[in-house]
Amino acid sequence: MEPVVYLDYNATAPLRPEALDAMLPVLRSAGNAASPHVPGRAAATSVAAARRQIGSLIGCSAGELVFTSGATEANNMALGVMTAPGGRLITSAAEHPAVLETARALAHERDIELMVLPVDRDGLLELEALRQALETRRPTVVSIMAANNETGVLSDLDAIAVITHSAGAILHSDATQLVGKLPVDLSALDVDLLSLSAHKFGGPQGVGALFMRRGLGLPQRPLLHGGEQEGGWRAGTLNVAGIAGAGAAASAAQAKLAAEAPRVKVLRDLLEDSLLSRLACTSVNGAMGQRLPHVCSITFTGAPADAVMAAMPGVAVSDGSACSAGTLVPSHVLLAMGRSRDEADSTIRFSLGYATEESDIELAIEAVTAAVTQVRGMLGTAGIQDGGVSGIGGTAAATQRPGRAGAIAHV
Ligand code: PMP
Repeated sequence: MEPVVYLDYNATAPLRPEALDAMLPVLRSAGNAASPHVPGRAAATSVAAARRQIGSLIGCSAGELVFTSGATEANNMALGVMTAPGGRLITSAAEHPAVLETARALAHERDIELMVLPVDRDGLLELEALRQALETRRPTVVSIMAANNETGVLSDLDAIAVITHSAGAILHSDATQLVGKLPVDLSALDVDLLSLSAHKFGGPQGVGALFMRRGLGLPQRPLLHGGEQEGGWRAGTLNVAGIAGAGAAASAAQAKLAAEAPRVKVLRDLLEDSLLSRLACTSVNGAMGQRLPHVCSITFTGAPADAVMAAMPGVAVSDGSACSAGTLVPSHVLLAMGRSRDEADSTIRFSLGYATEESDIELAIEAVTAAVTQVRGMLGTAGIQDGGVSGIGGTAAATQRPGRAGAIAHV
């Protein structure tokens, strides 16, 4: 297979070597963390160490974490625990489906009033809308993501926490894309519940955690019923090797974060600036001053993202649309930000990470420039390049696009 420049860390990051080293010995041993014998106690020791490592990464105590199969499960559990029948749930239009679809399902099943708040053109939640939505006496929970997976836009969680708590509501945040990328300190950040996923920061896939602040007094409503694992919050034999890998990845991310974040930002800016200057009618989505340092979402007007991606098989990125039963579904995040369907369909997300090198970015710049130029030429949209401008929030020309089959997936 051809070597691939991997710029899809928001979908999943490559396993950190530290995580693999921590997992291999556990995979070779037999202990169930719930067993009282020696191998069982060794497994429980690995889990306890990982719990401390993840707690240290996000500034909470180990006892405030429940291990799950990932952020999807953590989000389902958080919303399920928080929302009582007849209550209210407030979230935003830019959330990941792991929150939005869970919220919709709960609203249906439990007669919960659901409010989905808009975001502005920069992808930011309108705080005044949140303030107004909270003017009620009914018990309310708020779920707002920490960082958007498609654009990298960071929510102002401090302000959101003040508004939420001053209305007596509780706050959950899906921090899947933030944890391990920028510092998170739950001793200072006033959120009540927070979801994370190991595979986004170099741990294995299939491991996540839900932070629940001590003393919240929420009723225990497990998603999975069975054994007494995780204090009764989450039944099922623990994935000891995966959890050990998540812990090791958390420690590695924590140790390297201060150096990694600015290093990757330089590379992201190089990629973004180069593509903007080389390709006309190209625009970046999301609040410029309030984004993750390793993500950029770029709209290449007149160049459908799936055609561009097909023209550059050596670069792994994500596009701005998902596909359901052969019908293209444009990114709900970009639509919520006021982009047109054509703009959403012509958008590519680049997400860099700890192993990205400058040489990767140089290759990507060449490949993307060639692919977009080729697709625009093929579709006869190349003309938009004459006199077109690139920048932030540019406008789209109508584009045609080839169909695509597959299952719906937001990664
Ligand atoms: N929330 C966000 C913001 C995400 O980006 C993702 C992963 N694409 C998830 C939730 C789901 O995470 P997991 O794969 O661990 O279930």
